[in-house]
Amino acid sequence: MSENIARVHSFESFGAVDGPGIRFVIFMQGCSLKCKYCHNRDTWPINSGMEYTVDELIAKISRYKNYFTVSKRWSYS
Ligand code: SF4
Repeated sequence: MSENIARVHSFESFGAVDGPGIRFVIFMQGCSLKCKYCHNRDTWPINSGMEYTVDELIAKISRYKNYFTVSKRWSYS
């Protein structure tokens, strides 16, 4: 059985801009929208970035679980 793979541009473990609270942000690789004023154009190429399985991403995020629990800030966006 094949496993879904996500292409990731980068991670930000202390995201505090563009929204409320402090968030763990996953910047995905391969955006095809090409917005005129995009300030993350390095996320556009489809075939670059790092490959992660969903389980690998969850394992990475879970390392911050204690922080999320104490701060009581969960956000999925
Ligand atoms: S701003 Fe950039 S990264 Fe965001 S959706 Fe538009 S083109 Fe994609």
